[in-house]
Amino acid sequence: MSTVSPPSTSGVQAPDIQAIVRQVIAELTGACGQPAAAAGSPVAPAAAASAAGSFAGRHGIFASVDEAVSAAQEAFEQLERLGVEGRRKAIAHIRRISIDDAEELGRMEFEETKIGRLEHKIEKLKVLGERSPGVEFMQSEVYSGDHGLAVIEHAPFGVIGAITPVTHSLPTITGNAVSMIASGNTVVVNPHPSGKRVAAEGVRRFNAAIHRDIGVDNLVSLVAEPTLDTASALFNHRGVKLICVTGGPAVARAALESRKRAIVAGPGNPPVVVDETADLDRAARSIIYGAAYDNNLLCIAEKQVFVVASVFDRMMAAMERAGGLRLSTRQVDELTKKAIVMVGEGAHRHPAPCKDLLGQDASLLARAAGAEGRTGLELVFGETDNDNPFVPTEQMMPFLPFVRCKDVDEAIRLAHESEHGFRHTAIIHSNNVRNMSRMGRLLDTTLFVKNGPSVAGLGLGGEGYISFSIATPTGEGVTTPLTFTRQRRCTLVDDLCILGSPDSLSR
Ligand code: NAD
Repeated sequence: MSTVSPPSTSGVQAPDIQAIVRQVIAELTGACGQPAAAAGSPVAPAAAASAAGSFAGRHGIFASVDEAVSAAQEAFEQLERLGVEGRRKAIAHIRRISIDDAEELGRMEFEETKIGRLEHKIEKLKVLGERSPGVEFMQSEVYSGDHGLAVIEHAPFGVIGAITPVTHSLPTITGNAVSMIASGNTVVVNPHPSGKRVAAEGVRRFNAAIHRDIGVDNLVSLVAEPTLDTASALFNHRGVKLICVTGGPAVARAALESRKRAIVAGPGNPPVVVDETADLDRAARSIIYGAAYDNNLLCIAEKQVFVVASVFDRMMAAMERAGGLRLSTRQVDELTKKAIVMVGEGAHRHPAPCKDLLGQDASLLARAAGAEGRTGLELVFGETDNDNPFVPTEQMMPFLPFVRCKDVDEAIRLAHESEHGFRHTAIIHSNNVRNMSRMGRLLDTTLFVKNGPSVAGLGLGGEGYISFSIATPTGEGVTTPLTFTRQRRCTLVDDLCILGSPDSLSR
């Protein structure tokens, strides 16, 4: 690995993981292995202030899964003592950093991962800082009656193991951290190797600020050099009480097969149906906004469109009016050859996006297809058959295949097939509530958006809170603090309930 300049809270360069680890360890370890007060260091005051924790001052960066889990366990016990107010303070720092440093961290993520769109990397962090669900979700339920009180509280699990994707490396960690800490947990993250530097820098900033304020470090810990082996070690670690996985089919399958309880935010392939009653211009604007957001990297983003034949040509014209670039049949074929490749062996052989084009700009896709790109182009699209490989593939690039369907029944049926039963996300543009209901019932997806862009389903331009972990196969939906809790019932018999009958007290 190349050597990059050491991390700085104001620097714009993506820091080298080993440099961060070296710096933190050097600051902590004196000649006798005792914590050293490294004067002038950004972490020195925090390290000196909290001698309580043996991992204090590491700011969440660890070389091994064992150490990361031990540090997160220590942080969990410390957080427990600080109550809900401690959680609230910790989260406030994560929110503030996500908003204030969004520009710098978003750029870092963009430069490291080399996929998506810079403005959306920045926006994702800001919105998460503003709208991730926090401690306000931690409401207890109370039952009162003749026999007293029963209070249902939502208790933490302890240390959670999280696996995060390259498509939103730091945003996933940010959303997970806010929800998990709000419910009193701590988390160890095994980030995607291609987004590990920005993940580490975000985690370091979160922990440094929290440590300075409340004296607890490592609420969010991270494996600095993540591999499939470290992911597996995290899955199987005795100290990890719950797993939360955000990623594609392989990691979702591994989590579902794990012996631990897992919250699985798996892959999607969201279809769109446009029927003859739709407002076509509104549909076109929505499809472009959702499908082009961060160059189609989002698991909820529009991936293929089924349009009824009677409005097909008008819909294609509306897409052009809204700014999309229509490819000819020959150009679509050319792009398909370059953009979709076959992977896997035997029965597991399937089409997948070519890494060179994944998350790239629409104008680059246009050029790959043999068309002319143009500045500001957000999306390319074209008519395809239903058996074009773009239809079943989660392409994660700003090209959308449009399939002509004889009627809405066929459109809904093909949409259902293309979603592969993930039950993740679906979108319809229609003014016929029967069509909406039929599609909603058949696809039975976690998010179902009507007459808007997919991202509205996450609260971007629609209502609701946001998270970038949408638990689909395990059913928790858009994750909140309550997703990461155990129910605990506390019962008081006969007393403290004014509804109880006077007789119950004399018994
Ligand atoms: P990916 O599956 O390649 O990687 C995700 C994470 O899993 C990475 O950290 C990777 O290192 C790890 N991983 C991969 N295979 C593993 C295995 N066998 N065991 C343990 N760990 C493993 O996905 P990606 O390219 O980073 O992200 C895109 C995918 O994630 C898409 O399929 C997208 O739909 C999905 N996603 C889902 C959600 C959601 O909320 N449901 C959110 C974001 C992304």
